[in-house]
Amino acid sequence: MRRLARQKAGGLAVGFAALVLVDVFQLYVPRLIKHAVDDLTYGRADAKSLLMIAGAILALAVGMALLRMIWRPLLMGFARVVERDLRLKLFDHLQGMHLGYLDDNPPGELMARATNDLNNIRMATGIGLVAAVDGAFMGLAAIGFMLYISPLLALLAILPMPAIVILTRRQSRRFHRRYNRVQEAFSAMTEQVREVLSGMRLVKSYALAGPEEKRLEETARGYLNQNLSLARIMALFFPLMVFFTNLSLAVVLGVGGPLAVFNKITAGDFVAFTAYLGMLTWPMMAMGWVVSLMQRAKTSLERVGQVLSAEPQVRDVADPAHLPPRAERGVEIRDLTYRYPGAGADTLSGVSLSAPAGELTALVGPIGSGKSTLLRLLGRLYEPPENALFVEGVDVRALAQAELRAHVVQVPQEAFLFSATVAKNLALGRPDASEQAMWSALEAAGLAEEVRALPKGLETKLGERAHTLSGGQRQRLCLARALLLDPAVLVLDDPLSAVDTGTEARILANLARLRARRTTLVVSHRLASVAFAARIYVLQAGRIEEQGAHRELLAQGGLYHDLFAEQALLAEMEG
Ligand code: ATP
Repeated sequence: MRRLARQKAGGLAVGFAALVLVDVFQLYVPRLIKHAVDDLTYGRADAKSLLMIAGAILALAVGMALLRMIWRPLLMGFARVVERDLRLKLFDHLQGMHLGYLDDNPPGELMARATNDLNNIRMATGIGLVAAVDGAFMGLAAIGFMLYISPLLALLAILPMPAIVILTRRQSRRFHRRYNRVQEAFSAMTEQVREVLSGMRLVKSYALAGPEEKRLEETARGYLNQNLSLARIMALFFPLMVFFTNLSLAVVLGVGGPLAVFNKITAGDFVAFTAYLGMLTWPMMAMGWVVSLMQRAKTSLERVGQVLSAEPQVRDVADPAHLPPRAERGVEIRDLTYRYPGAGADTLSGVSLSAPAGELTALVGPIGSGKSTLLRLLGRLYEPPENALFVEGVDVRALAQAELRAHVVQVPQEAFLFSATVAKNLALGRPDASEQAMWSALEAAGLAEEVRALPKGLETKLGERAHTLSGGQRQRLCLARALLLDPAVLVLDDPLSAVDTGTEARILANLARLRARRTTLVVSHRLASVAFAARIYVLQAGRIEEQGAHRELLAQGGLYHDLFAEQALLAEMEG
């Protein structure tokens, strides 16, 4: 922020100068009114002099409007630039964080920092700074003028003012608390509506419309109540402010009169004095408000700072190794043991496997046996131990992440698509891909025909959360996305679970044929789909229990045999 302030120093100086000049103009108006009132009171007024004073007030008003147009974009614009820079920095930093960071800092929490906290910081650097400078200058100058008119009256008038500062501070704290509650109630309500809309099918099939409506009614009532509670303090606040200003006036009149001050000042002075008194309310409010704005911004800055100072656990070594020019060795895992940070037990224990180049190797096992964990470690989404995972003979920890991920492309379990066209989603990793390459990838993923049938083919825009595609189509699009990159090592985490077994087996077998020297490592929960694999590893509770080709594993009559029989039976029953 300091660097930015230095860069924008010229603009900021002009902005603050314009801001102070507006105050100077505003402070000059009561002086002009004083002259008019005195001229009128003492019978010196004529049409020409009054007209001149009126003209001068008008000129000041125009000047103030023009100056406001100068300072607002300069000073408020600065705050916007600070906010934008911080947001980009935050986003950039999050992109570089390891996946495990998201386990400890859920998206909602990070979103709050990128929105609410950045808002607080913008408020403090924008309107907060303006109010501080403006309030301080205006307040001191108004008091100065009041002291100049009558020191005694000034002292009397200022007496109730600290109450305004204290009251504003207290109120703005309460306001903020209630405002937060309103925001929370609003989030809860929108989240609920979003849930019902996206789960419409479930709501309809379970006849949940009534209960859901009741639930929403309650949330909406909560939102209304929170808003009313906010409105109540707002409704109280401004009349209270007016009350304190009037209290000052009453003190001035009630105490100042008997003290015979009024003989010493002219009627015009008195009118000017009350105008300055009126001008003092805002600076007093500003003081209370600015303090709480700054406190909030300080907390927010700390929260944003926490994210920015979090160290990514997965880092490139200073002098990274490089992959050999020919990819000949595929993937090798040697005695890999892994425990998630903070977890009570190992998720993987002594896992060794080899997925040679040019072959399709399968990894199967019951739910939760650690298959996805193994793939994540291979891609260094979580930091694996050293000397355990090797790609083309090089320890993944010695490679730069960019080089590793260009070589080893993963298709995760969740088929994530952006709300963009099929082509954009497809060419995510290779934006310059030719149309022909895209069609080949779609062909290989068994999706080409279905994309051709879409209203605009490759240019069809996928709706929010890709509603226009079925689950299986989405998965195949994600597979095609990876195939378009034509990686040396392809890692698939159950990428076709929503496709029928026959199609899955056909697509996978086809993949193996498509690129002769490619290493493919595939996880599937359906054993039948990967039965053709050269080598199958069976993982259970984090250990490799069995390995071999389909026939060998069946013949062993162990875990694989049992799982396979169970799935075959289920398929028969369903079939
Ligand atoms: P599935 O077939 O359901 O995908 P899987 O074999 O891929 O299962 P993993 O997702 O690797 O299994 O999970 C293995 C174990 O690790 C599970 O007990 C899971 O609870 C645990 N686990 C997974 N992710 C994390 C995490 N981020 N932090 C801590 N534990 C985790």
